[in-house]
Amino acid sequence: AVKAEPLLVVRDVRKRFGAFDALKGVSFDLAAGETLAIVGESGSGKSTLARMLLRLDEPDAGSAHWKGRDLFKLSPAELYKLRRELQMVFQDPTQSLNPRMTVYQLISEAWAIHPDILPKAKWQERVAELLVQVGLSADHMGRYPHQFSGGQRQRIAIARALALEPRLIVCDEAVSALDVSVQAQVIRLLDQLRRDMGISFIFIAHDLPVVRDFADYVMVMRKGEVVEMGTVTQVFDTPREAYTRALFAASL
Ligand code: ADP
Ligand code: MG
Repeated sequence: AVKAEPLLVVRDVRKRFGAFDALKGVSFDLAAGETLAIVGESGSGKSTLARMLLRLDEPDAGSAHWKGRDLFKLSPAELYKLRRELQMVFQDPTQSLNPRMTVYQLISEAWAIHPDILPKAKWQERVAELLVQVGLSADHMGRYPHQFSGGQRQRIAIARALALEPRLIVCDEAVSALDVSVQAQVIRLLDQLRRDMGISFIFIAHDLPVVRDFADYVMVMRKGEVVEMGTVTQVFDTPREAYTRALFAASL
């Protein structure tokens, strides 16, 4: 099969915190519309990698080409433009949702920063559409984050990411804190976004059945390194590494 042009090409990303090697050279490709899951025991560097890609923290070395541009070399002004298409959803939505802002403010804030996307006269209508798209009611745009359940807050965070018309959403344990039934609902929403809008995902998760259902590819990390990588079927059915087998066994 002809492989699509990669959207993201990550090569040899390294990061040290003092004497500690958090990332020891991580490489992978991601094609448009694909979902790459990253799994690995706690402390293996998954969140650190995600933060580097979003430039929430600076890598020591390596490159991450997004549509041919190295994200790690962009000036703040260039990053500001490109960064719109890369969004992140965290485990704890309160990390990205200011408790003093209404849902309307939280979502439309994205357009205040990127005024070229949507004229102000359209903000209200678009917020209503986005809320419906993520399974919430348009009537709720005047409410504050604390007036929603954990799953609903995660939907607000997703609506906010969608407001900027992203090509890639990095989900760092985005469903891990939710009840299993709510997890399934949020995954269904993400799956729908992938199918309807062709959004790519980097999906960091420790819940392996969820990964198996949702992802196309899996990258297994251990102590800052990629242990193995392959399609979901390959890695789950015929894991090559003892570490991967142990990780799967531990999560059953
Ligand atoms: P994961 O998301 O896979 O659980 P992390 O990327 O959060 O792992 O962390 C990888 C390692 O890097 C951990 O040992 C963590 O303590 C360390 N680490 C992460 N961020 C920092 C930081 N800002 N300063 C020092 N150490 C850090
Ligand atoms: Mg983490």
